[in-house]
Amino acid sequence: MAEHASLNELQQHDDFIRRHLGPREDEIQAMLQELGLESLDDLIEQTVPHKIQIEKPLAVDSSMSEAETLAYLKSLADKNTVAKSFIGMGYYDTVTPTVILRNVLENPGWYTAYTPYQPEIAQGRLEAILNFQQMTLDLTGMELASSSLLDEATAAAEAMALAKRSSKNKKCNVFFVDKNVFPQTIDVIKTRAEHYGWDIHVGDLAELENLDVFGALLQYTNITGQITDLESHIESLHAKKAIACVAADIMSLVLLKAPGEMGADVVFGSAQRFGVPMGFGGPHAAFFATRDSFKRSLPGRIIGVSKDTRGNQAFRMAMQTREQHIRREKATSNICTAQVLLANIAGFYAVYHGRKGLTNIANRINRYASVVAAALKQAGLQLLNDTWFDTISFISKDIDAIKHRAEVANMNLRYHGEQVGVSIDEAKTQADIEALIQVLTGETYNLNELNNDAESSIPTSLIRTSDFLTHPTFNNYYSETDMLRYLKRLENKDFSLAHGMIPLGSCTMKLNATSEMIPVTWPEFANIHPFAPEEQTVGYLEMIKELEADLVEITGYDFVSMQPNSGAQGEYAGLLAIKKYYESIDESHRNICLIPSSAHGTNPASAQMAGMKVVVTKCDENGNVDVADLEAKASELKDNLAALMVTYPSTHGVFEEEIKHICDIIHDNGGQVYMDGANMNAQVGISKPGEIGSDVSHLNLHKTFAIPHGGGGPGMGPIGVKSHLAPFVSGHSVRKVHSVEAEGGAVAAAPYGSGMILPISWSYIKMLGREGLRKSTEVALLSANYLKNKLEGHYPVLYMGRNDKVAHECIIDLRPIKAETGISEVDFAKRLMDYGFHAPTMSFPVAGTFMIEPTESESKYELDRFIEAMISIKEEVDKVASGAWDAQNNPLTNAPHTQADLRDWDKPYSIQEGAYPSQATIDGKFWPMVNRIDDVYGDRNLICSCPSIESYQQD
Ligand SMILES: *Cc1c(COP(=O)(O)O)cnc(C)c1O
Repeated sequence: MAEHASLNELQQHDDFIRRHLGPREDEIQAMLQELGLESLDDLIEQTVPHKIQIEKPLAVDSSMSEAETLAYLKSLADKNTVAKSFIGMGYYDTVTPTVILRNVLENPGWYTAYTPYQPEIAQGRLEAILNFQQMTLDLTGMELASSSLLDEATAAAEAMALAKRSSKNKKCNVFFVDKNVFPQTIDVIKTRAEHYGWDIHVGDLAELENLDVFGALLQYTNITGQITDLESHIESLHAKKAIACVAADIMSLVLLKAPGEMGADVVFGSAQRFGVPMGFGGPHAAFFATRDSFKRSLPGRIIGVSKDTRGNQAFRMAMQTREQHIRREKATSNICTAQVLLANIAGFYAVYHGRKGLTNIANRINRYASVVAAALKQAGLQLLNDTWFDTISFISKDIDAIKHRAEVANMNLRYHGEQVGVSIDEAKTQADIEALIQVLTGETYNLNELNNDAESSIPTSLIRTSDFLTHPTFNNYYSETDMLRYLKRLENKDFSLAHGMIPLGSCTMKLNATSEMIPVTWPEFANIHPFAPEEQTVGYLEMIKELEADLVEITGYDFVSMQPNSGAQGEYAGLLAIKKYYESIDESHRNICLIPSSAHGTNPASAQMAGMKVVVTKCDENGNVDVADLEAKASELKDNLAALMVTYPSTHGVFEEEIKHICDIIHDNGGQVYMDGANMNAQVGISKPGEIGSDVSHLNLHKTFAIPHGGGGPGMGPIGVKSHLAPFVSGHSVRKVHSVEAEGGAVAAAPYGSGMILPISWSYIKMLGREGLRKSTEVALLSANYLKNKLEGHYPVLYMGRNDKVAHECIIDLRPIKAETGISEVDFAKRLMDYGFHAPTMSFPVAGTFMIEPTESESKYELDRFIEAMISIKEEVDKVASGAWDAQNNPLTNAPHTQADLRDWDKPYSIQEGAYPSQATIDGKFWPMVNRIDDVYGDRNLICSCPSIESYQQD
């Protein structure tokens, strides 16, 4: 008989593990050999402290093929029910223009890009975000906009914080919230205020006049649908030196007077209904705008206009000195990862429709709402609002009959006691409106007659009179051909993982596999309202529970909370759990948070938001936590010690031997350990934070668990906690979170954060399985150590652990080169662009260095290409040092080189030396679109809106 492969072996050839890993088996062997190692087990033995290694393999399922995983996930998705949603409350059905769906949302050229810290190779998304800011400015009537916050509710909390910083009513600690604001927004605001020590007064707008407050939150239009004229309320707020914050519906602003024209100080809201699916609550971008005079207080990132060395216009991130990575516990907010991909989509939606298209959509929505209102009136029902944009609320004595008819018609309405609310959106058709009226009244009406009867619902004084979206970008791309080419033109300006490696230390830019991404836009995941009835979200919950169980197993914690929608939000949620735990054992005086000096900026920023006092502890010359200093501070402060925030492996890329001892020191002094999980890519399958001795961690699903970076977001930052902290994770006041007792204390607008992107991490774990998860970590460690070995003869490697091994990243020191030659880390970063790379993390956690994280997904070819580039750049530095090249006018200081340079080449070195420095660039060149951008000019001449037509003409 012939020898057959077993059926199992036949199956294994399709496995996902080898697709996820960059290096092939023979390359892994070659890389091990380079390190003098026999096997990956050998590498782990030599690299990871024995004390922390897990003994048993992860109890996670075995690897499943891509096809099997997709089929299984489809069976879960099928358990969700896509109903016609009239729930509203900040989440609306929308029609994502398919040209945007396919070419942006489903396109790795857009979704795998990094945050635009290297603006010369990010001009496409920077322009797209600038569109988003301009759209925000036009619709809100404000002066300065940021480039996205996480969701409407957290934006409200940020608005309150801005109000507190900016109000001249300094002594007052009361913030007023209109009772008709969305309940999830009130929930998040209350959480934030509690820990800042401020009081929230939720009440009727009429009360505002006689209250002493530092600010107020008003909603335009409010939860009942009513459009309130805010002008007099804003005047009364200004009279008491208070700040007026307005939550606004973006679609309504197309027809309504802009809040900025009524004197508002801050205007924000969700941009979801501009083409981003509901996705069970996210991810969505929140827009946020304020006065120019509050610019230093504006939370989040801002895109600004500057110029490059040729004087050409160029975009960049502006005013970063406000941000957590610079200001730490004094930062305006802890926001790091935001919602760039979704902001881009919302901006493109506005580009695609233009003023005219948006006006049509908004008018249709408004007319349909008026038709519904006319029917309700004819049916003798009592409306709760007499003005509206899209939402009608009314009282019914027969709720049960309405509920029954709605269920039969597969419609979701909003119920509140005897009240029923319906919100109309862009996706609803005449037939939907007819069916809705039938459900609400039990009768059939002639829509055309109702339309003739229906009065206008917007008070004359509140009709928009100012123009908007007048910039060329909103008026040039009406045909699909033009739109497609615009999207492609911008995409082509940006460097993404589709071009080459982005070796960002701490940010883990690994493969975002297509099979992981495909389910995201399935309607059964995309078109689900976060407050849809439980029985319609069974599939979501099953998927989420499986993901939670796998994350519990991977981290060694007892419980996972899926709510925080970024790593920084996870930090905040974890610290709040610690605080509430202390309250429960009568130790609420504990308020000191120890943070090593090497920590990521979000750590101190989050601790400050949680109302904790930050005490910085030292690092020793090896980059480790200085245990003696930590012990001294912990014991000195032990009466009030709340927590230590520690990153593991450290931000220096080292597995600290003393980590268990460090956890013990904190526990012995009455504190809790928060282990920042951003570096979990070095731990999965090998060690577990919960077993090392930590009490709580966030996981950056957009780093370790394959959610793409989106050019600066979205992300997800669920937290794992030990059982004693589990009762204190955040709940939600609108929809109960499974297994969580609290019915409030929300840290995000949606109960499960950004549900729509959870299938990515779920699939990642299923497809790698227990073998692949561990192997990914091993190969990540191998790649980093291989890089380190190859580079250490050329650059000093700053920190190493046992056996001179690094963890999943390594830091090379560029300061000696700068001291000797003047060639700076910035020159290196820009020069790497000439070689076709995105620079590693620059100057974090040590100024003047590169932190390089190759991840497990890069092939040996790509690693070698990077190594060769770095060695070649070092040789270039030597030419500067020797005087062979001019110190000021050389390929490094002039980098990056552009096609514009070729047109009038005037350099003292050849085109080949400047622009084609490697064979790979001759074979295929990625061209930066602009020359080096002037940061100082951009901050001195702050412009955060789209350039005018005139400025284009001047160029
Ligand atoms: C990325 C990162 C964070 C913040 O996470 P976001 O998702 O960007 O909010 C915190 N700590 C470390 C070490 C990180 O690398």
